[in-house]
Amino acid sequence: MGRRNNHSCTFAISQCYCTKCGEKGIDIPRKSGRYREAGHLKKLYCIHCGKVWNHVEIRPMYSDYNYEDFQLEMKYGNFDEKGNRKEPYRIFRGELKQKGVI
Ligand SMILES: [Zn+2]
Repeated sequence: MGRRNNHSCTFAISQCYCTKCGEKGIDIPRKSGRYREAGHLKKLYCIHCGKVWNHVEIRPMYSDYNYEDFQLEMKYGNFDEKGNRKEPYRIFRGELKQKGVI
């Protein structure tokens, strides 16, 4: 559930984390009106891996996907060898809950 923001010209900073090494990448400004799904994947250059790789986008102003969610996906292997999600995060998290992991 995100906070409502009716200003169309404000920017929010998104934090990006590499799905290969888990390190934090560059922050990118986003127009706050443009809503993307939780944990949106974006190809960015990772300075730690030295290559362009999928990064997870985390928007601190929204609580639908945060750093803890990303850590769960890294820890329990929801990213494949190409940095793509094996399952949508909501389904992945639901399965972890069913297994009693979280
Ligand atoms: Zn990396």
